[in-house]
Amino acid sequence: MSSPNASPTIVGNLLHEAYKQFHEVDDGTVATYIPELGKADPGHFGICVMSVDGDCYESGDCDVEFTIQSISKPFVYAMALTDHGRDMVYSRIGVEPSGDAFNSIVLDQKTNRPFNAMVNAGAIAASSLIQGVNVEERAEAQMAVFSAAAGRRLRLDQSVYRSETETGNRNRAIAWLMMNFGMIEGNVDEILSLYFQQCSILVTARDLAVMGATLANMGTNPLTGENVFEIGCIQDVLSVMFTCGMYDYSGEWAFRVGIPAKSGVAGGILGVVNRQLGIGAYSPKLDSRGNSVRGVKALTYLSEELGLHAFNFMNHGSHFLKNVLDRDGGGAVTPGV
Ligand code: GLN
Repeated sequence: MSSPNASPTIVGNLLHEAYKQFHEVDDGTVATYIPELGKADPGHFGICVMSVDGDCYESGDCDVEFTIQSISKPFVYAMALTDHGRDMVYSRIGVEPSGDAFNSIVLDQKTNRPFNAMVNAGAIAASSLIQGVNVEERAEAQMAVFSAAAGRRLRLDQSVYRSETETGNRNRAIAWLMMNFGMIEGNVDEILSLYFQQCSILVTARDLAVMGATLANMGTNPLTGENVFEIGCIQDVLSVMFTCGMYDYSGEWAFRVGIPAKSGVAGGILGVVNRQLGIGAYSPKLDSRGNSVRGVKALTYLSEELGLHAFNFMNHGSHFLKNVLDRDGGGAVTPGV
Protein backbone atom coordinates (compact mmCIF):
# COMPACT_ATOMS: atom_id res chain seq x y z
CA MET A 1 0.00 0.00 0.00
CA SER A 2 1.98 3.01 -1.11
CA SER A 3 -0.68 5.28 -2.58
CA PRO A 4 -2.09 7.97 -0.33
CA ASN A 5 -5.59 7.67 1.00
CA ALA A 6 -7.38 10.80 -0.21
CA SER A 7 -10.16 11.10 2.35
CA PRO A 8 -12.26 14.18 1.50
CA THR A 9 -11.74 15.93 4.80
CA ILE A 10 -9.67 18.85 6.03
CA VAL A 11 -7.24 16.71 8.00
CA GLY A 12 -7.36 13.91 5.42
CA ASN A 13 -6.53 16.36 2.64
CA LEU A 14 -3.62 17.81 4.59
CA LEU A 15 -2.18 14.33 5.10
CA HIS A 16 -2.65 13.62 1.41
CA GLU A 17 -0.87 16.88 0.59
CA ALA A 18 2.00 16.08 2.99
CA TYR A 19 2.40 12.67 1.37
CA LYS A 20 2.38 14.22 -2.09
CA GLN A 21 4.88 16.93 -1.19
CA PHE A 22 7.38 14.75 0.64
CA HIS A 23 7.22 11.17 -0.62
CA GLU A 24 9.83 11.84 -3.28
CA VAL A 25 12.27 13.49 -0.88
CA ASP A 26 15.21 11.13 -0.99
CA ASP A 27 17.65 12.67 1.48
CA GLY A 28 19.10 10.81 4.43
CA THR A 29 20.27 7.28 5.12
CA VAL A 30 18.67 4.20 6.61
CA ALA A 31 20.18 3.18 9.98
CA THR A 32 22.55 0.25 9.61
CA TYR A 33 24.10 -0.16 13.06
CA ILE A 34 22.44 -3.57 12.97
CA PRO A 35 21.94 -5.28 9.58
CA GLU A 36 18.18 -5.83 10.12
CA LEU A 37 17.44 -2.09 10.11
CA GLY A 38 19.38 -1.68 6.87
CA LYS A 39 16.87 -4.00 5.17
CA ALA A 40 14.03 -1.45 5.51
CA ASP A 41 12.45 -0.24 2.23
CA PRO A 42 13.56 3.42 1.95
CA GLY A 43 10.49 4.18 -0.18
CA HIS A 44 8.03 3.58 2.65
CA PHE A 45 6.26 6.66 4.00
CA GLY A 46 3.12 6.81 6.10
CA ILE A 47 1.46 9.46 8.26
CA CYS A 48 -1.50 8.88 10.56
CA VAL A 49 -3.47 11.19 12.86
CA MET A 50 -5.73 9.89 15.64
CA SER A 51 -7.96 12.23 17.61
CA VAL A 52 -8.81 11.77 21.29
CA ASP A 53 -12.36 11.06 20.08
CA GLY A 54 -11.06 8.08 18.11
CA ASP A 55 -11.21 9.57 14.58
CA CYS A 56 -8.37 8.34 12.38
CA TYR A 57 -6.90 9.96 9.25
CA GLU A 58 -4.06 8.48 7.28
CA SER A 59 -2.00 8.65 4.12
CA GLY A 60 0.59 6.30 2.64
CA ASP A 61 2.11 3.24 4.27
CA CYS A 62 0.39 3.20 7.65
CA ASP A 63 0.26 -0.63 7.85
CA VAL A 64 3.98 -1.28 7.43
CA GLU A 65 5.60 -2.67 10.59
CA PHE A 66 8.95 -1.40 11.86
CA THR A 67 10.67 -1.53 15.25
CA ILE A 68 9.66 1.19 17.66
CA GLN A 69 13.27 1.71 18.90
CA SER A 70 13.63 4.83 21.04
CA ILE A 71 9.95 5.75 20.75
CA SER A 72 9.57 3.13 23.48
CA LYS A 73 11.26 5.49 25.94
CA PRO A 74 8.33 7.76 26.86
CA PHE A 75 6.15 4.69 27.48
CA VAL A 76 8.62 2.95 29.77
CA TYR A 77 9.04 6.27 31.60
CA ALA A 78 5.24 6.49 31.92
CA MET A 79 5.21 2.93 33.33
CA ALA A 80 7.85 3.87 35.91
CA LEU A 81 5.96 7.01 36.93
CA THR A 82 2.65 5.15 37.08
CA ASP A 83 4.10 2.37 39.26
CA HIS A 84 6.49 4.33 41.50
CA GLY A 85 5.37 7.96 41.51
CA ARG A 86 7.21 11.11 40.52
CA ASP A 87 9.54 11.54 43.52
CA MET A 88 11.01 8.06 43.39
CA VAL A 89 11.53 8.18 39.61
CA TYR A 90 13.02 11.68 39.82
CA SER A 91 15.60 10.39 42.32
CA ARG A 92 16.84 7.97 39.60
CA ILE A 93 16.24 9.83 36.30
CA GLY A 94 16.75 13.56 35.67
CA VAL A 95 14.75 15.89 33.45
CA GLU A 96 17.45 17.98 31.74
CA PRO A 97 18.44 17.78 28.06
CA SER A 98 21.86 16.13 27.98
CA GLY A 99 23.59 17.96 25.15
CA ASP A 100 25.26 14.61 24.41
CA ALA A 101 24.38 11.82 22.00
CA PHE A 102 21.46 9.56 22.98
CA ASN A 103 23.80 6.63 23.59
CA SER A 104 26.56 8.47 25.41
CA ILE A 105 28.13 6.83 28.44
CA VAL A 106 27.68 9.84 30.68
CA LEU A 107 25.71 10.62 33.84
CA ASP A 108 24.96 13.92 35.57
CA GLN A 109 28.17 14.55 37.53
CA LYS A 110 26.40 16.08 40.54
CA THR A 111 23.65 13.52 41.01
CA ASN A 112 24.96 10.47 39.08
CA ARG A 113 21.52 10.25 37.47
CA PRO A 114 21.00 9.78 33.74
CA PHE A 115 20.10 13.17 32.28
CA ASN A 116 16.59 12.25 31.19
CA ALA A 117 14.37 9.33 30.20
CA MET A 118 14.67 9.92 26.44
CA VAL A 119 18.35 8.88 26.26
CA ASN A 120 19.46 5.26 26.57
CA ALA A 121 20.76 5.64 30.13
CA GLY A 122 17.43 7.03 31.32
CA ALA A 123 15.47 4.33 29.53
CA ILE A 124 17.66 1.59 31.02
CA ALA A 125 17.09 3.11 34.48
CA ALA A 126 13.32 3.23 33.79
CA SER A 127 13.47 -0.42 32.64
CA SER A 128 15.01 -1.38 35.99
CA LEU A 129 11.82 -0.11 37.67
CA ILE A 130 9.42 -2.39 35.78
CA GLN A 131 7.65 -4.61 38.28
CA GLY A 132 7.23 -8.40 38.24
CA VAL A 133 8.46 -11.48 40.10
CA ASN A 134 10.86 -12.51 37.32
CA VAL A 135 12.16 -11.15 34.02
CA GLU A 136 9.54 -13.04 32.00
CA GLU A 137 6.75 -11.42 33.99
CA ARG A 138 8.34 -7.99 33.63
CA ALA A 139 8.75 -8.48 29.87
CA GLU A 140 5.10 -9.43 29.61
CA ALA A 141 4.08 -6.40 31.73
CA GLN A 142 6.01 -4.17 29.30
CA MET A 143 4.49 -5.78 26.21
CA ALA A 144 1.01 -5.61 27.76
CA VAL A 145 1.32 -1.87 28.43
CA PHE A 146 2.61 -1.11 24.91
CA SER A 147 -0.20 -3.22 23.45
CA ALA A 148 -2.82 -1.48 25.59
CA ALA A 149 -1.51 1.93 24.47
CA ALA A 150 -1.69 0.79 20.81
CA GLY A 151 -5.08 -0.92 21.20
CA ARG A 152 -3.88 -4.21 19.70
CA ARG A 153 -1.55 -7.00 20.73
CA LEU A 154 1.97 -6.08 19.59
CA ARG A 155 4.89 -8.48 19.12
CA LEU A 156 8.69 -8.50 19.07
CA ASP A 157 10.89 -8.57 16.01
CA GLN A 158 13.00 -11.48 17.24
CA SER A 159 15.91 -10.90 14.85
CA VAL A 160 16.20 -7.21 15.79
CA TYR A 161 16.05 -8.22 19.47
CA ARG A 162 18.83 -10.77 18.91
CA SER A 163 20.99 -8.22 17.08
CA GLU A 164 20.42 -5.52 19.71
CA THR A 165 21.53 -8.06 22.33
CA GLU A 166 24.58 -9.16 20.35
CA THR A 167 25.79 -5.66 19.52
CA GLY A 168 24.67 -3.80 22.67
CA ASN A 169 27.98 -3.41 24.49
CA ARG A 170 27.61 0.35 24.73
CA ASN A 171 24.27 -0.08 26.48
CA ARG A 172 25.89 -2.70 28.74
CA ALA A 173 28.59 -0.16 29.66
CA ILE A 174 25.90 2.44 30.47
CA ALA A 175 24.01 -0.06 32.64
CA TRP A 176 27.10 -1.12 34.61
CA LEU A 177 28.08 2.51 35.18
CA MET A 178 24.62 3.16 36.63
CA MET A 179 24.89 0.01 38.75
CA ASN A 180 28.18 1.36 40.11
CA PHE A 181 26.42 4.57 41.20
CA GLY A 182 23.38 2.80 42.67
CA MET A 183 21.05 4.22 40.03
CA ILE A 184 19.85 0.75 39.11
CA GLU A 185 19.46 -2.36 41.23
CA GLY A 186 19.02 -6.02 40.36
CA ASN A 187 20.25 -8.18 37.53
CA VAL A 188 21.91 -6.05 34.83
CA ASP A 189 21.47 -8.65 32.07
CA GLU A 190 17.76 -8.89 32.81
CA ILE A 191 17.35 -5.11 32.83
CA LEU A 192 19.18 -4.90 29.49
CA SER A 193 17.03 -7.68 28.08
CA LEU A 194 13.93 -5.60 28.90
CA TYR A 195 15.57 -2.57 27.27
CA PHE A 196 16.52 -4.49 24.08
CA GLN A 197 13.04 -5.99 23.92
CA GLN A 198 11.31 -2.63 24.22
CA CYS A 199 13.38 -1.30 21.28
CA SER A 200 12.39 -4.35 19.20
CA ILE A 201 8.59 -4.08 19.45
CA LEU A 202 6.97 -3.93 16.02
CA VAL A 203 4.55 -1.06 15.36
CA THR A 204 3.01 0.75 12.39
CA ALA A 205 2.53 4.50 11.85
CA ARG A 206 -1.10 3.91 12.82
CA ASP A 207 -0.04 2.25 16.10
CA LEU A 208 2.14 5.27 16.88
CA ALA A 209 -0.81 7.59 16.26
CA VAL A 210 -3.00 5.56 18.65
CA MET A 211 -0.21 5.44 21.27
CA GLY A 212 0.22 9.21 20.90
CA ALA A 213 -3.54 9.69 21.24
CA THR A 214 -3.43 7.62 24.45
CA LEU A 215 -0.96 10.16 25.87
CA ALA A 216 -2.95 13.10 24.43
CA ASN A 217 -6.07 11.61 26.05
CA MET A 218 -4.42 11.68 29.50
CA GLY A 219 -3.45 8.01 29.57
CA THR A 220 -6.69 6.43 28.33
CA ASN A 221 -6.72 4.74 24.92
CA PRO A 222 -9.43 6.55 22.93
CA LEU A 223 -10.32 3.44 20.90
CA THR A 224 -10.58 0.86 23.65
CA GLY A 225 -11.38 3.13 26.61
CA GLU A 226 -8.70 1.33 28.61
CA ASN A 227 -6.82 3.41 31.15
CA VAL A 228 -3.16 2.61 30.52
CA PHE A 229 -1.20 5.29 32.40
CA GLU A 230 -1.93 7.18 35.58
CA ILE A 231 -3.31 10.61 34.60
CA GLY A 232 -0.86 12.48 36.85
CA CYS A 233 2.21 11.20 34.98
CA ILE A 234 1.20 12.50 31.55
CA GLN A 235 2.37 16.05 32.28
CA ASP A 236 5.81 14.72 33.24
CA VAL A 237 6.13 12.46 30.19
CA LEU A 238 5.06 15.16 27.72
CA SER A 239 7.36 17.77 29.31
CA VAL A 240 10.41 15.57 28.86
CA MET A 241 9.37 14.63 25.32
CA PHE A 242 8.96 18.33 24.52
CA THR A 243 12.49 19.23 25.64
CA CYS A 244 14.42 16.01 24.88
CA GLY A 245 12.49 13.83 22.40
CA MET A 246 14.15 14.60 19.07
CA TYR A 247 17.84 14.02 19.84
CA ASP A 248 20.02 17.03 19.07
CA TYR A 249 17.19 18.65 17.11
CA SER A 250 14.98 18.92 20.22
CA GLY A 251 15.40 22.69 20.69
CA GLU A 252 14.74 23.51 17.07
CA TRP A 253 11.83 21.05 17.03
CA ALA A 254 10.24 22.78 20.05
CA PHE A 255 10.78 26.10 18.28
CA ARG A 256 9.44 25.12 14.87
CA VAL A 257 6.95 22.30 15.51
CA GLY A 258 6.12 22.85 19.17
CA ILE A 259 4.61 19.51 20.11
CA PRO A 260 5.99 16.80 22.42
CA ALA A 261 7.47 14.10 20.19
CA LYS A 262 9.86 11.15 20.15
CA SER A 263 11.71 9.60 17.26
CA GLY A 264 13.48 6.30 16.78
CA VAL A 265 16.30 5.03 14.57
CA ALA A 266 14.01 2.78 12.51
CA GLY A 267 12.36 5.94 11.12
CA GLY A 268 9.30 6.39 13.31
CA ILE A 269 8.17 9.65 14.89
CA LEU A 270 5.38 9.96 17.44
CA GLY A 271 3.85 13.37 18.18
CA VAL A 272 1.30 14.39 20.83
CA VAL A 273 -0.99 17.41 20.64
CA ASN A 274 -2.13 17.79 24.21
CA ARG A 275 -5.79 16.77 24.71
CA GLN A 276 -6.29 16.55 20.97
CA LEU A 277 -4.25 14.30 18.71
CA GLY A 278 -1.69 11.57 18.39
CA ILE A 279 0.42 11.64 15.22
CA GLY A 280 2.46 8.74 13.87
CA ALA A 281 4.89 8.98 10.97
CA TYR A 282 7.20 6.43 9.41
CA SER A 283 9.88 6.69 6.78
CA PRO A 284 13.23 4.95 7.31
CA LYS A 285 15.74 7.45 5.90
CA LEU A 286 17.27 9.50 8.71
CA ASP A 287 18.96 12.89 8.79
CA SER A 288 22.32 13.52 10.46
CA ARG A 289 20.63 13.83 13.87
CA GLY A 290 18.86 10.47 13.55
CA ASN A 291 15.35 11.77 12.81
CA SER A 292 13.26 10.54 9.85
CA VAL A 293 13.70 13.09 7.04
CA ARG A 294 10.18 12.76 5.62
CA GLY A 295 8.68 12.36 9.09
CA VAL A 296 10.16 15.67 10.27
CA LYS A 297 8.89 17.39 7.13
CA ALA A 298 5.40 15.91 7.48
CA LEU A 299 4.98 16.83 11.14
CA THR A 300 6.39 20.32 10.57
CA TYR A 301 3.90 20.82 7.73
CA LEU A 302 0.93 19.57 9.79
CA SER A 303 1.90 21.72 12.74
CA GLU A 304 2.10 24.82 10.55
CA GLU A 305 -1.12 24.12 8.65
CA LEU A 306 -3.23 23.21 11.68
CA GLY A 307 -1.56 25.59 14.17
CA LEU A 308 -0.56 22.72 16.44
CA HIS A 309 2.42 24.45 18.11
CA ALA A 310 1.76 24.68 21.85
CA PHE A 311 2.20 28.46 21.70
CA ASN A 312 0.64 29.16 18.31
CA PHE A 313 -1.84 32.05 18.36
CA MET A 314 -4.56 29.77 16.93
CA ASN A 315 -4.05 27.25 19.72
CA HIS A 316 -6.28 28.92 22.30
CA GLY A 317 -7.35 25.98 24.40
CA SER A 318 -7.58 22.29 24.72
CA HIS A 319 -10.27 21.92 22.06
CA PHE A 320 -9.16 24.42 19.43
CA LEU A 321 -9.06 21.67 16.80
CA LYS A 322 -12.51 20.35 17.68
CA ASN A 323 -14.22 22.55 15.10
CA VAL A 324 -11.99 21.29 12.32
CA LEU A 325 -12.48 17.69 13.38
CA ASP A 326 -16.25 18.14 13.76
CA ARG A 327 -16.44 19.52 10.23
CA ASP A 328 -14.47 16.45 9.16
CA GLY A 329 -17.14 14.29 10.87
CA GLY A 330 -17.77 11.01 9.13
CA GLY A 331 -14.74 11.37 6.87
CA ALA A 332 -12.34 9.60 9.16
CA VAL A 333 -11.15 6.13 8.29
CA THR A 334 -11.90 3.20 10.58
CA PRO A 335 -8.67 2.05 12.16
CA GLY A 336 -7.95 -1.63 11.93
CA VAL A 337 -8.05 -2.44 15.62
N1 GLN B 1 18.22 0.26 20.13
C1 GLN B 1 18.85 1.51 20.01
C2 GLN B 1 20.01 1.65 20.97
O1 GLN B 1 19.88 1.33 22.12
C3 GLN B 1 17.86 2.63 20.21
C4 GLN B 1 18.20 3.60 19.26
C5 GLN B 1 17.26 4.75 19.03
O2 GLN B 1 16.17 4.64 18.44
N2 GLN B 1 17.79 5.90 19.31
O3 GLN B 1 21.07 2.10 20.62
